[in-house]
Amino acid sequence: MDDTRMTEARTERVPLAQCVPTCGTADQRGSYLELSDREFEHRIRLAYAHLQYCDLCPVKCGASRLSGRPGVCGAALRPRVFVWNIHRGEEPPVSGLRGSGTVFLSGCNLRCCYCQNYPLSQLGHGSEYSVPRLAAALNELQRRGAHNINFVTPSHQVAQILAAVLMARRQGLTIPLVYNTSSYDSVETLGLLDGIVDIYLGDYRYTDDVVAHNLSGAADYPAVARAALEEMHRQVGDLVACADGTFVPHGLIVRYLVLPRLTRMAKDVFQFVHERLSVDTYVSVMTQYFPAYKALDGARGVGRKITEAEFDKVMNAWHASGLVHGWVQELDGEGGA
Ligand code: SF4
Repeated sequence: MDDTRMTEARTERVPLAQCVPTCGTADQRGSYLELSDREFEHRIRLAYAHLQYCDLCPVKCGASRLSGRPGVCGAALRPRVFVWNIHRGEEPPVSGLRGSGTVFLSGCNLRCCYCQNYPLSQLGHGSEYSVPRLAAALNELQRRGAHNINFVTPSHQVAQILAAVLMARRQGLTIPLVYNTSSYDSVETLGLLDGIVDIYLGDYRYTDDVVAHNLSGAADYPAVARAALEEMHRQVGDLVACADGTFVPHGLIVRYLVLPRLTRMAKDVFQFVHERLSVDTYVSVMTQYFPAYKALDGARGVGRKITEAEFDKVMNAWHASGLVHGWVQELDGEGGA
């Protein structure tokens, strides 16, 4: 697939109070370079075994993906990719100065009514890739100067990702891996990535089961995401800033997308991070929400952007949380009532 550029969301991020200055990411070799071929191949076998009657993710829909049958997420055996390109709009430790090598995978195991990427996540737009073709794309991103390889919505494609990374490593891939996820991931599957992924970009979208059901069709999302984020943090810990203001590209960033009318969840999000992860966790507060896809009609209560009052409420919750590291997107344009 050509690296056609996707429309980038507004992505200016300013540091939250007391955050260290950020000017990019120190270059580093990916942790996966330390893994033996034998262990890598073992992980790949385990991951593909999950696809027989698929239980790779918390949906556990049982699709016979090895026989080519797609599951609830839309994925069958071969990986599907919508686009891959250099992206400069992620958090500073991910985008750095030269950009992140993003790979947008098609399909998704959630059904978010507001998904801004719905053509690929819900409608399955994208092309089928062989593992060698995906491996070649990863090395091309490295050749173009990407600081890292950033798999976007990867939860249903872990087996294919592992196979492609091992192949790409044999062909010269060295840059770190970013796992950019909704956090609707099983802990067992995340375990296959231990020592392979360097940066987890994990959402924590909802703390309320009813909201998670209504907006994403997954009432168990809060519990699943909490367990997944704890596992991610166990694996990579907190990001570490260097003396020069750059970051060692290794650690967890928790993303929180502020949704209209639902800012009451912010307090619980920050409290979980503080109490169950670490006070030094970096949090990225995203205010870019705009209604898309099935949210446009407003029937589910998320048919507008967030207001300045809602933004202030989230920032107040942040300041009360005791957390000290992270970024927030500047608010541009307000939602109505
Ligand atoms: S990864 Fe896809 S096919 Fe597998 S259990 Fe989840 S939704 Fe079903």
